[in-house]
Amino acid sequence: MFLKGKTALITGSTSGIGLAYAKALAAEGASVMINGFGDAEEIEAERKALEDLSGARAVYSDADMSDPAAIEAMVERCTDELGAPDIAIANAGIQHVSPIEEFPVEKWDQMLAINLSSPWHLTRLVVGAMKEKGWGRIIYTASAHSIVASPFKSAYNATKFGLGGIAKTVALEAARDGVTVNCISPGYVWTPLIEKQIPDTMKARGMTREQVIEEVLLAALPTKKFVMPEEVASFALYLCRDEASQITGANLSMDGGWTAQ
Ligand code: NAD
Repeated sequence: MFLKGKTALITGSTSGIGLAYAKALAAEGASVMINGFGDAEEIEAERKALEDLSGARAVYSDADMSDPAAIEAMVERCTDELGAPDIAIANAGIQHVSPIEEFPVEKWDQMLAINLSSPWHLTRLVVGAMKEKGWGRIIYTASAHSIVASPFKSAYNATKFGLGGIAKTVALEAARDGVTVNCISPGYVWTPLIEKQIPDTMKARGMTREQVIEEVLLAALPTKKFVMPEEVASFALYLCRDEASQITGANLSMDGGWTAQ
């Protein structure tokens, strides 16, 4: 329970990797604000389960990460109800797969807003209070696509490469204040985000579903197995430990060797 008394705000945490972060941090005693969309009853059940895990409060925000005003209201609410975030994880993200000449312009705008601008907004809104306290952890879920590109993901790759730029810059700005800023870069994790990209990848590459899974997704991972959300969450937990205070401005890979190739 090394996070007892700490508050964590995790965007995009109603499913997949974000929910795994929330569970890992709550299991160490943190009060958590979860965020994202989904079935109201399922989200309420997850929220209650988080309170059971932590023995602290868990609250849910449906703030839309493509809306800067909603991000600001979410941080204010977290501060009022749980305390200013000690840990902020910008995790909400979406994916669209399409050749660039057919890429819908509105998808580019939406992905930049959710995947890249929202971590920037979250950071500018939480880092001041962290600096005042002299302790803080800001984490972005980037991707192996912050290091290597894949075709048909021009917007996704651009946003994930961009996160490293924000993390390195703010790491330098906050280095003397006990605040670290890092990216975690998973390889393919079997979540709704990956499942949703399969039909577009089938179309873009002229492949069957099985071929996409074997020849695109698993083929990228030398370990030939998907990364688990819980494995990614354990990385975030480590970054929250005091022993990790010298890791800042880093991009930590958990990708089955993908980017080693
Ligand atoms: P997911 O689809 O399971 O979860 C995405 C979460 O973001 C959900 O909670 C969803 O409700 C929320 N969300 C989506 N749009 C939102 C918006 N406008 N406002 C607020 N919340 C919103 O996906 P995941 O795979 O767990 O992805 C989480 C992060 O991990 C993303 O940033 C993704 O790019 C990154 N990532 C995923 C993989 C992978 O293989 N799954 C690999 C590397 C990085």
